[in-house]
Amino acid sequence: MSILLPVLKLELDKLYEDGSQEPLIHKCKEDTHEFKTQLKKLKAHLNKHIHEVEASTGINNNSNVEESKKRLRRRELVVEKLNKAHRQWDHSVKRNCKHTAQQHTRINKFLNHKMHEFDLDLVYVNKLPPESRANIDRAISFHISRYNVGNLPANGRQEIIQYLNQVYGITEDISEKFVQMGQIVQDMKQGDTSSCVKWSRDGSLLQFELYALNAMQLFQHGDVLQTYEYLTENVPASAFKYRQLQVITQVSPLLTQLLLGQKIDDLEEKIQLQLNKCISLFTKEYCSQNKLPYDSALFLIILSGVISFQFFIKYQSIRASAHVDWTTEDELPFDVTLPEFLTHFHPIFICPVLKEETTLENPPYSLPCHHILSKKSLDRLSKNGTCTFKCPYCPVNASKAKTGRVNFVML
Ligand SMILES: [Zn+2]
Repeated sequence: MSILLPVLKLELDKLYEDGSQEPLIHKCKEDTHEFKTQLKKLKAHLNKHIHEVEASTGINNNSNVEESKKRLRRRELVVEKLNKAHRQWDHSVKRNCKHTAQQHTRINKFLNHKMHEFDLDLVYVNKLPPESRANIDRAISFHISRYNVGNLPANGRQEIIQYLNQVYGITEDISEKFVQMGQIVQDMKQGDTSSCVKWSRDGSLLQFELYALNAMQLFQHGDVLQTYEYLTENVPASAFKYRQLQVITQVSPLLTQLLLGQKIDDLEEKIQLQLNKCISLFTKEYCSQNKLPYDSALFLIILSGVISFQFFIKYQSIRASAHVDWTTEDELPFDVTLPEFLTHFHPIFICPVLKEETTLENPPYSLPCHHILSKKSLDRLSKNGTCTFKCPYCPVNASKAKTGRVNFVML
């Protein structure tokens, strides 16, 4: 991929004139325009010429031999110019069209070759059952509500719910959970933090960051004294009480700059950063307080899917050369490595004796020595509970009666 893109760019650049922003095909338009202007000029010239000839006939016949010779030369010149203009236009248009068409063919050939190297539809095995459509729609609705409710051209609770329903077909039971969140985010984006301040918990980091944002916005409007008073008097002490580190790193420098009358560099940029920080903090707290997932399930699933793709392709090429088929029904025949934040949801335990993942049918059991085995290997070692056996890891003797069922929970 890293080589493919530069090559493609190189090929696409050839559709443009050297170092120019204009594609070559635009040159045809320009040339045609110029040709038309030339023709108009020549036409005007000829019209003038005809008038002159008409005006002069009948007035002075005999002294005009010189004059008509001159006119003849002028006419010849016009014809020459006309022919030249036409030749130039024709040549340039033909050349540019040909070049563009050839380049298009080249790019198409290149893309066809690359794009068909892998057929995406071949990956679609284990098809989703048709009845899962309703669940997918719910997940999409949830995703849209989670991420977009703060960016809608609608204001107020009822209007937002109605908009989501009419435009995206999202039912109220899904969207209503996000409406308050969206309203507060919208308020903040419009420079009004009061609804978020009201929502934030006393003494929380969010509350502190919101007051800092307000102070920066006040300062942006140029009122130094008001900003100073706001920070020292109007902000409730509780907002700063537990935030010593932030006060030292954020508020103190701001106050010092105010006192010294210094300008703050990139104030606008800093305000934008602070606003984004507040919105993200608020969203996080709102979701956790209302027991909503911070990331939409759909987003995490699609991310996992995109990451798994490479493993699938690799497996498929191995399978094609080794002539093996799908062997397992319950799990994919290859391991996919996902980043940590996609795998911390439920614990996976592999039985160290059988090298198999424990399941509901084959759950893990702990021995008196606290080593853990799967039920199948326990049955095997204890000959179905009829004898004591030695733990595979340490010299402790165990019997099936002394084992206990284990449940892994990720806290
Ligand atoms: Zn042991």
